[in-house]
Amino acid sequence: MTTVVSDIGLLVTNDPAVGELRDAHLVIDGGNVVEAGSGIAPAADDRVDAGGRCVIPGFVDSHTHLVFAGDRAAEFAARMAGSPYAAGGINVTIAATRAATDAELRALAAARLAEARRAGITTTEIKSGYGATVGDEARLVRLAAELTPEVTFLGAHVVPEGEDADAYVELVCGEMLAAAAPHCRWIDAFCESGAFDEDQCRTVLEAGLGVGLGLRLHANQLGYGPGVQLAVELGCASADHCAYLTDDDVDALAGDTVATFLPATDFSTRQPYPDARRVIDAGATVALATNCNPGSSYTTSMSFVLALAVRDLRMTATEALTAATLGGAQALQRDDIGWLGPGSRADFVVLDAPSYDHLVYRPGVPLIAATYVAGTRA
Ligand SMILES: [Zn+2]
Repeated sequence: MTTVVSDIGLLVTNDPAVGELRDAHLVIDGGNVVEAGSGIAPAADDRVDAGGRCVIPGFVDSHTHLVFAGDRAAEFAARMAGSPYAAGGINVTIAATRAATDAELRALAAARLAEARRAGITTTEIKSGYGATVGDEARLVRLAAELTPEVTFLGAHVVPEGEDADAYVELVCGEMLAAAAPHCRWIDAFCESGAFDEDQCRTVLEAGLGVGLGLRLHANQLGYGPGVQLAVELGCASADHCAYLTDDDVDALAGDTVATFLPATDFSTRQPYPDARRVIDAGATVALATNCNPGSSYTTSMSFVLALAVRDLRMTATEALTAATLGGAQALQRDDIGWLGPGSRADFVVLDAPSYDHLVYRPGVPLIAATYVAGTRA
């Protein structure tokens, strides 16, 4: 069955050979795009009238921690009143998550994923990390795999209270990895003082590589450190956060590892924003993601992330949109999403606006009119 999306005022394709099209249409067959063009729309079995509005590729959110129980609203309020952010708050969510049943966690995560769909997100990566035991981490990646193929094992999220860091890393790389890996595509670690150091992160990522997982790393969020260069050295698909960068870090990011910015985190922790201009101007590929999690960034709004990226990271609206769609896809090493054209999946968003600039220009306004995943309205 074919569907034509007609009367698109502005179509963003992210296909460098095509760019942005005016008075455009999309033709969809079997969940994939078969044509992105302008002028007279061809006939099809079904028709969606975009009414002159803007259509963009669905957002690709390459960094979330969606499976958890409880919230940390009180911690957020205390932080806004002057308390600093510390990685140890993760232990609060670990306790709440361990205490929840499978059914409770499944319902909470599904509700957050539905919220993300309403926000225009068509692909969501989900990390574990709030289990921190063999059984709990295996449970979290199993539940995440019910929602997305982009599942990341983050056993090395925080050293559980009262445990020895090196002994915990040994557990993560051994029994925990063996239990989690069958449900995962990726492995990640939190490289930060207060979490895991360079050697520990290297050990964890190399163990993941050994069982065939792709690599990603939480790097340079709260201060300068070895994370970015370790990520590049090990060939990580993405180094995430990148808030504190030396010149050498910026040079390293000009290679294949995507620099993923999570500015809603810097907003919620009142940390400095990354110097995205320096990274983009060095030639790096950049992505934007929500980092949806209860401690440092409890949002599924990619539109909010775009607004921060433009206002505070000084990206252009076009750079920000590209980073939140094609950039996210590159951070997940996916070539079927993040763009619209023959061969792409028909993941797209109809905006209640004539252009995507409005996502930034009208912050906080719900401008996502409809989200389509593989050609079907979500
Ligand atoms: Zn994270």
